[in-house]
Amino acid sequence: MPDPFGRDAQELIKREFGDVLTLLERIPSSISSEEALSLVSWMLKSKEPPEKLLNVDPLEELKDLFRFYALLGALAFSPYGLETEFVRQATTKLYRARIERKGSLDGSLLRIEPPGEIPDRDRRILERAMDRSLPEEERERLRLKHRMHLSEFLELWDGSLKEVYIRDGYAYLRWETALKLWEMAFERRFDRAVSILSDVRDELPDFYEGLRDRLEEIANDFFKERLEKLGRVGAKPLRFELFPPCVKEALKGVPSGMRNYAITVLLTSFLSYARLCPNPPRRDVRVRDCVNDLTIIKEEILPVIIEAGNRCRPPLFEDQPHEIKNIWYHLGFGLTDNPTLEDSGNSTWYFPPNCDKIRANAPQLCKPDKYCRGIKNPLTYYLRRLTREERREENPEGENSG
Ligand code: SF4
Repeated sequence: MPDPFGRDAQELIKREFGDVLTLLERIPSSISSEEALSLVSWMLKSKEPPEKLLNVDPLEELKDLFRFYALLGALAFSPYGLETEFVRQATTKLYRARIERKGSLDGSLLRIEPPGEIPDRDRRILERAMDRSLPEEERERLRLKHRMHLSEFLELWDGSLKEVYIRDGYAYLRWETALKLWEMAFERRFDRAVSILSDVRDELPDFYEGLRDRLEEIANDFFKERLEKLGRVGAKPLRFELFPPCVKEALKGVPSGMRNYAITVLLTSFLSYARLCPNPPRRDVRVRDCVNDLTIIKEEILPVIIEAGNRCRPPLFEDQPHEIKNIWYHLGFGLTDNPTLEDSGNSTWYFPPNCDKIRANAPQLCKPDKYCRGIKNPLTYYLRRLTREERREENPEGENSG
């Protein structure tokens, strides 16, 4: 399958299994971990996918799809880890190479159509039809091959609109642009799929946790240099400038009706996970699984929460001093105002609410910006921006990572 999220693949999954969870239950009895890993482990040795992964026997198509979905199932246990970045990179390259070889985006997840009629004059200019010295290869590169409904195009495109020919509500695309859009759509769907599966990971067979451990080893090997330079994607100082708009709003302080939700629910969970445990190893993680003492909470996290509470109108903790206990409760220490590390686990350490919950409970907090597109949880927003920013800082001359 050239695109595991494409219409063809989705129809196959629906026909054979009904839904993705049923597919994930079947996979462990159909392929080994090694078979799943072979879809991505080539990245350790080569920049380009090997020939045998580009030419899949039609009889092996289902198995090929198993390999990809097995990896997604494994990443449900590490949605923000290096493993996820590694698999995203490897599979984007692999499926792009398959699409390039096929020379067509038919059946892929990108909703495009043939370009139809374009006024002759426009086509002559855009495709430089009068320039007889143009080599055939260049002519082919300039050809407008597809069009895409503008609303869908704008959902994906982050470049300048001057680079694109737009007419009658459609963006017209050259092959390279269409491929770039496919990559963006693929990566976005990939992240969304991992995030959705992470919500149900407790229902997945043990096979996937084992596979995640193997992926972690491979990803560590692949990103060895970066790890040495930057340290793991783990506890590190917060970068407030990369916070999502809803968290920035909460930090400014909010009116009385929204105070408990903004400060106690959103800010407490967001700051604590982002700072202490951005990539929780399991759902019921406790603070003491991530740090050895409470210094970071007391010196870095609580002061920010209290300051935001003081900016509320009226100030939250002056009005409701017992709310401090509630903060500790949401951090997983039970209802207390003087906890020890051993108390962590006395209550649940609340994970940051998903965007739909924030919009339902405190709609004024959600003021989405361009990075919010396709985001389901504010922590994902922050970690994605953090990873991109670190990549940019590590390699300022490098490719635009989107
Ligand atoms: S879309 Fe999500 S991350 Fe963005 S502002 Fe709204 S709630 Fe926050």
